[in-house]
Amino acid sequence: MNATARLPQRARRAFTLIELLVVIAMISILIAMTMPMIPAVNDQARIGTCESRQQQVGVALRLFAEDHHAYPKSLNELYAGHYLDQRSLLRCDKTGREYYYRPAPLTAKPEEVLLACVDPATATGKRPHRHGTVSVLLHANGEATLTR
Ligand SMILES: [Zn+2]
Repeated sequence: MNATARLPQRARRAFTLIELLVVIAMISILIAMTMPMIPAVNDQARIGTCESRQQQVGVALRLFAEDHHAYPKSLNELYAGHYLDQRSLLRCDKTGREYYYRPAPLTAKPEEVLLACVDPATATGKRPHRHGTVSVLLHANGEATLTR
């Protein structure tokens, strides 16, 4: 007498093809639901990186302005003057391109954008980050704030 013959009928029952297909379909649906979230999470992390970099560049711009009584003509001037220790701080984490920078007089209006991931005139759909451009606003009193 062999071992399988002694087992009750229910214990030998395996998954049917339909049950297996249902499980595969459910796993596929779960994967399909979570996949679109991955780029959004990545973009959120990159926005955080850009915010941090631009805040550091904003501080460097203020220091430069205090020393020279004017903002630098280019971001390279900021780096060459040793106001920043890493050149990578001048690039958007998503595009890899240097930040948009527009020197303004020290008397610039508070809402003027000096630094951003891309030119703020770029259409919203063509900006690098899903939630728009991360940019530093330099206020007339010298304070730097971030906006999206
Ligand atoms: Zn960016």
